[in-house]
Amino acid sequence: MSTLVCVPITVLEIDAALADANQAKLLGADIVELRIDSYFPGSEGDAEDTLRLNELKRLIAECPLPVILTCRSATEGGDYDGDEADRVSLLEKLCVNAEHPPAYLDFELACYQKSANIRQKINLCVQHPKQERDVRTRLILSMHDFDGRPKDLMRRLSEAWAEPAASVVKFAFRARSIRDNLEIFEILRDAPKPTIGIGMGEFGLMSRVLAPKFGGFLTFASLRDSSATAPGQPTIADLLGMYRFRLIGKDTRLYGVIGWPVAHSMSPLIHNAGFEAVGHNGVYLPMPVPDSDEAFKATIGSLGEESELHFAGASVTIPHKERLVGSGENRLPTDPDAETLAIGAANTIWLEQSTRTHQIWPLRVTNTDSHAIATLVQDSLEDIDGATIALIGAGGVARAAAFMLARANGSIRVFNRSHERAEQLAAEINSWIEKLSPDRRMLQKGDIAAGSLADFVNTPCDIYINCTPVGMTGGPDPEGLSIPVHELAGKLPPETVFFDTVYNPIETPMLKAAMEHGFRTIDGVEMFVRQAAAQFELWTGKAAPVQLFDRLVREKLGSS
Ligand code: NAP
Repeated sequence: MSTLVCVPITVLEIDAALADANQAKLLGADIVELRIDSYFPGSEGDAEDTLRLNELKRLIAECPLPVILTCRSATEGGDYDGDEADRVSLLEKLCVNAEHPPAYLDFELACYQKSANIRQKINLCVQHPKQERDVRTRLILSMHDFDGRPKDLMRRLSEAWAEPAASVVKFAFRARSIRDNLEIFEILRDAPKPTIGIGMGEFGLMSRVLAPKFGGFLTFASLRDSSATAPGQPTIADLLGMYRFRLIGKDTRLYGVIGWPVAHSMSPLIHNAGFEAVGHNGVYLPMPVPDSDEAFKATIGSLGEESELHFAGASVTIPHKERLVGSGENRLPTDPDAETLAIGAANTIWLEQSTRTHQIWPLRVTNTDSHAIATLVQDSLEDIDGATIALIGAGGVARAAAFMLARANGSIRVFNRSHERAEQLAAEINSWIEKLSPDRRMLQKGDIAAGSLADFVNTPCDIYINCTPVGMTGGPDPEGLSIPVHELAGKLPPETVFFDTVYNPIETPMLKAAMEHGFRTIDGVEMFVRQAAAQFELWTGKAAPVQLFDRLVREKLGSS
């Protein structure tokens, strides 16, 4: 049976809840969960309120989709903090002898086990003879832990599975790492009864999206963006649209973006759309991994070890790019190509076709940022050989650019606010190039060198590339001009190119100034799309739909 998509609806007002249920159906949900704990918060009067009860019966009857009825107790994260007997009595009224009983009743295992009396009443809700002839309500026995994986999870699961009245078992706990999802998958795969396994929080998104891969009975998706109140719970539009949930099966390959933070990455948007466009059976997820050697190594290790995940590649972003080619005792068994080793940072993990379902070690890693920069410069200058190139910044991106452009015989000047770092970068890249290309024409002394910022405007170049975050929204100097374009104007021919690696905003202050003076420009979206396209091609073996990528990124940035 395929995994159901359930939209939870907090019932505060009947007609609003009904409208939400209709909307959920329209968007493709299979079932809705009506959370009535706020509607009956536990005051005795309310629980006995016939009008409210009748309204609720009307809601269940008119609901366009099957209903899971839940009155979640405060002990498991719900809003119901009233008398337990009242809660059970309310559920009885809605299930036993009801004209339109809910398809499922969710009740907490811990409460179910509390007393024989409660057990008996809940069993009555799901076993009433009248319902046997008609639609029978089935019991979901559930357990929730908002702190983390409960120590006694397996014992409690065994007890829940062993309860004859339970048709479905649900467990949800706060995932504390990507690895927690893998245990959830293992449990789902071996479960003796239909089971729902949810990792709550941003680390748990994988458990929600990949449920069909491991036979999960159901997954939850919100009607509206609930990232603030329920992080990790996708919207139904994203689940069915971007993640293509209905196509996820046992063999679907898993990709993702590993970084910290990654919630706002645009990579899932474009790579999933790309998989759809070329018919690739893959899904691409944000994979948050905190900034630590241990977390990074353990995450990659577990993704690789679980062969049924079909982990097939990843984008790696801040703060892990250097870690991916790093040295020392925490070094991963990776196999960076020579260029990536020289750059000292990688942004891509990819697996050879033949190893995709087997051994992933050593990981193939590469740097597609450098490829993107080099091809964009090549396209705009026609020939890098002999061109003069100014790099502003001496961090990871500048290093990737310097290496590829110097290798193509460009004449590079590195300008950085800390001159020492620029000198160091130039020296290291020179020595790498000599090491890797002993037979190339000898570099002229000074082909790559640090430039003095004081002399910047007197050093005319064919292309200027900003590799600092200056001009970036949310960065250290969003209004700043990374390159003093106005001072350069008049000294440079109009065909001079100004290239900003910053992509948010698309038109940075520096690019705006360059356009005002009639210079040619390359924006950061072009770089983002090229580096993503190179990853896509390594993963799928197919040409990336670059125009689609470009359009999606510009639309997304334009709307944000
Ligand atoms: P990084 O390693 O942190 O290096 C940042 C560089 O910028 C350093 O040289 C730093 O100077 C300099 N810098 C930082 N703040 C500055 C300021 N306020 N004024 C002047 N210089 C400043 O960063 P990175 O990984 O190279 O990334 C650089 C930029 O590239 C990012 O901001 C991002 O927007 C862009 N990027 C774009 C793409 C794309 O696909 N389009 C991909 C990756 C990165 P010090 O050495 O003196 O600290």
